[in-house]
Amino acid sequence: MQPVGVVGIIGCVLLGRNGGKDLKMRAEIISIGTELLLGEIVDTNTPFLANQLSSLGIDLYFTSAVGDNSARLAGVFRQAWQRSDLIITTGGLGPTQDDITRDAIAGLLGEKPEVNEELKQHIVNFFARRGLEMPLSNIRQATLIPSAVALPNPQGTAPGWWVEKEGRIIAAMPGPPGEMQFMWQNEVFPRLQKRTGAIILSRMVKTFGVSEAKVDELLADLTSSTNPTLATYAKLDGIYLRIAAKAERPEEAQEMISRREADVRAIMGDAVWGVDDETQEGIVGQLLVAKGLTLAVAESFTGGFMTHTLASVPESQRYFKGGLIATSDEVKVALGLEPNLVTGKASAEIATAMAVLARRKLDASIGIGIEGESSPEAVSGMVPGTVFIAIDSEQIKLHQVQSYSGRLYQMRRRAAYYALLDLMKLLRAM
Ligand code: ATP
Ligand code: MG
Repeated sequence: MQPVGVVGIIGCVLLGRNGGKDLKMRAEIISIGTELLLGEIVDTNTPFLANQLSSLGIDLYFTSAVGDNSARLAGVFRQAWQRSDLIITTGGLGPTQDDITRDAIAGLLGEKPEVNEELKQHIVNFFARRGLEMPLSNIRQATLIPSAVALPNPQGTAPGWWVEKEGRIIAAMPGPPGEMQFMWQNEVFPRLQKRTGAIILSRMVKTFGVSEAKVDELLADLTSSTNPTLATYAKLDGIYLRIAAKAERPEEAQEMISRREADVRAIMGDAVWGVDDETQEGIVGQLLVAKGLTLAVAESFTGGFMTHTLASVPESQRYFKGGLIATSDEVKVALGLEPNLVTGKASAEIATAMAVLARRKLDASIGIGIEGESSPEAVSGMVPGTVFIAIDSEQIKLHQVQSYSGRLYQMRRRAAYYALLDLMKLLRAM
């Protein structure tokens, strides 16, 4: 076994290179908590961090989970200290006796935790704001060792620790994923980014209507590139393509992203509907406002999802007149559909009649009707289904049929997104 001291010196030399930049860091993640080992909670922190490290270009060599046990945690830390330059932990920073991460780090480094007045005040204030007195046990969260600086945790009481010693880094973060991710984004990631000397920017290009397999096939040449990278994510409102570029300066990274985005758009054509934070319902809303148009919906198959989606956009009252939701044939008739149309079978005629009905009843310039049915036979949880979408306005008469199979809730959502995409394309062309 290599003596710790020697490894430490190698670490220092590496850090010194290029003024601390381009460090080829070997990283390791330790998730701490007995619940993880009992199968009571699933470790989502590790995959999140693994993904983030790869986006930073830091090599992750080991991950492990360990319970709230001092001896075993100490063992895991000792091993990590010998083989890794960067050790990231989550969990065990709380106020209770089983939260032992701080003690384990102090023990590893042979340093003594002491109460830090500023941290103590932060925790006292946290409780005071909620009209509570600080339980004495929380004082544990206000301790530091000489090699550690505190990482603020505005989402909770437990600050993280950023430790640097002998060319190694330990970043200890709280277990609750929300707190951990906030701290990662605001404290740990920027510090590591400085080390690696890289600026990483990314852009999400959002597509709809092309299957994931087809997207993979179309973009195969681009997804094999390492800088910029292109990764695909399947979401209910389509396949997202994340372009990420690493460079020394932001302008360079931006330029690489723009060029790659142009390649992607050339291949995907009008399947691309938006980027980054844009949503289909948001874009549709903007287009409607810009054109001075209003929208109403009548839906059955989607069970209100379309109405919910449209109404969730802030200020949607400006253009969204509302939704008629028919969960059965009786409701369709009650809402005003011709009884002889309602035959218990979905059809393009019904979808069109619903679009017209929504438009007239709710006094909108455009009506959307969504109707559909799924087969009662599921094949390993997947049901085949058919959806009829109709859009009606003075200028537009459109109806179309989509057949696909999937889980029922996915199909319902996809149907609504298909309708939104159709409308978006029509509005853009107007
Ligand atoms: P707290 O102050 O909340 O006690 P902590 O840093 O001590 O924070 P833990 O006690 O280890 O964290 O975990 C608190 C909760 O955070 C767990 O009950 C669990 O819900 C969640 N959590 C912890 N670790 C993970 C993980 N690796 N993945 C997902 N969730 C986790
Ligand atoms: Mg805890």
